[in-house]
Order: sequence, then structure tokens, then C-alpha cells
Amino acid sequence: MTARLAALLLGLVLAAPAFADAPLDLKGRMEQGGFVVGQAAPGARAVLDGMALDVDEAGLFAFGFDRDQGATAKLTVTYADGGTAERLIEVAPRDWQIQRVEGVPQQYVSPPPEAMAQIARSTALKNAAREKRMAGSGFAEDFIWPATGPISGVFGSQRYYNGEPRRPHYGVDVAAPTGTPIVAPAAGIVTLASQEMYFEGGLVFLDHGQGVTSVMMHMSRIDVTAGQQVAQGDVLGAVGGTGRATGPHLHWGLYWRGAWLDPQRLVPPMEEAIAANGGN
Ligand SMILES: [Zn+2]
Repeated sequence: MTARLAALLLGLVLAAPAFADAPLDLKGRMEQGGFVVGQAAPGARAVLDGMALDVDEAGLFAFGFDRDQGATAKLTVTYADGGTAERLIEVAPRDWQIQRVEGVPQQYVSPPPEAMAQIARSTALKNAAREKRMAGSGFAEDFIWPATGPISGVFGSQRYYNGEPRRPHYGVDVAAPTGTPIVAPAAGIVTLASQEMYFEGGLVFLDHGQGVTSVMMHMSRIDVTAGQQVAQGDVLGAVGGTGRATGPHLHWGLYWRGAWLDPQRLVPPMEEAIAANGGN
């Protein structure tokens, strides 16, 4: 089977590249919430649906598809010699659960007027951190679970808090006791570390490169500061139940340039991770 036929069978339409040997390798899940690592050649540029992607000196780049991404996306890669490769990516739709969360303190469902200043501060801090996109290629590592335990919430669920509809759940929840260490799922640079966020409580943003950012919420303790470089497995802090939470758990989100991706798709099944930890 030729490489081109294989690509077609994968649902990728490969437009004729100017040079047959122009390298373009895409690894990841072509689905809503999916995350993809691309490898082109040094000096290449890449554009996804009109948005210029960051491409490092080695030709490595990242992109992803939001929960509500449409059926297709167009990726265009231009090589240093002027040749181009174009792919029309079919993005598989997914079904989302409905999750009802009861017993949420009402101040986190309908915040009182006196909370507005803290919410505004939280939003400003998050927006400033999201504008930064760090160098680095931690996003291309094999991610590990930042904490292990029963999964108590999955990505994409339509959420109701005390019966009231709120935005979907953009992350995966891992139930674990307060104080359980949270480690870096891949290398990165801390772009936000605050104990003071209204909904998120203790919050850390860890940019794995090109803006691919792990978001850790509800932390009881934070052991890192903004600007700090961490390796995979380094401790970021500890699990807690701060902010809008009904019990201690880690909320792990994955953000990339305006899109929320599904972090659970990047790591092995939880049972394997727990077994590898010796059952804990
Ligand atoms: Zn959550």
C-alpha cells in the first residue's frame, strides 16, 4: 500500500504536494477535542483554517480541535523551498454526556455582587496568561496523568449545577484526597500560579510549548511560580477542593489558542496508571 492510499484510508485527503518527498506527519486524534502533533521540515510554515500556527526550528507544531469543532479543517504547510502540502482533515464528531452536579455552594452557581471584583481579577489574570505562547516542545512528549484516582467527570459534558445549566465541562476530573501531589503531565513553563481564583480556586497554567496549556484547578497548595520551567513528573502542588468544587479533586484542562481539548485522550487508561503506581 502506498503512503498516499494509507492516508486516504485514514480519512485524510492529501492534495498533491509540490514535491513528493515533502515530509508531513500528523499524530493524534482527528476528532472534537482532539490534539494533534505535526512534523514538517525545518523552515516550514503551517496554517490551520486561516490561523498561522507556531512551527519550531525542527518543523514541529501542534494544533487541536475544540469540543464544538465543525466537520472539517484545512491544514496548509508551506516548505522553505516554496512547495506546499494541503490536507482536508475530517474531524469526527463525539457524543457528550449530561452531568448534574448537586450540592454546589450557591455563591459559585450565581455569584453575589460582592464577588464580581474577584471574578474580574481572575479573568484578567487568565486572559493575560493565555496571550503568552511559550517556546518548547513538551507537547510532543507522551503525557502522564498529573494525579491518579477515580475519574469523576469527563470532557465535554453538558453541566448543570444545582439544576442550572452552565457551560460544558472542559476537562477531566480525578477524585483524590486533599494533599495528593499533582505532577506536570509533560514538560513546560508555568504561565499562571494563583491561589485566589474565584471559580478555579488554586489554579496553575503550564504551557507545554506553542500555547498548549495544562490547566490545574481547585488546588489546595501551589509549589510553582509563574515563569518556572518544569520537567514531566515535577510536583506542581496538591489536590484540593477550592473554588467551585463539591469535594477534593483535580480538574485537568487542556487549552490551546481559544480551544479546549480533551486531556484524557493523551494519557493511558487510568487503570493502567494506577497499576503502574502499585495500586495507589
Ligand atoms: Zn472539572
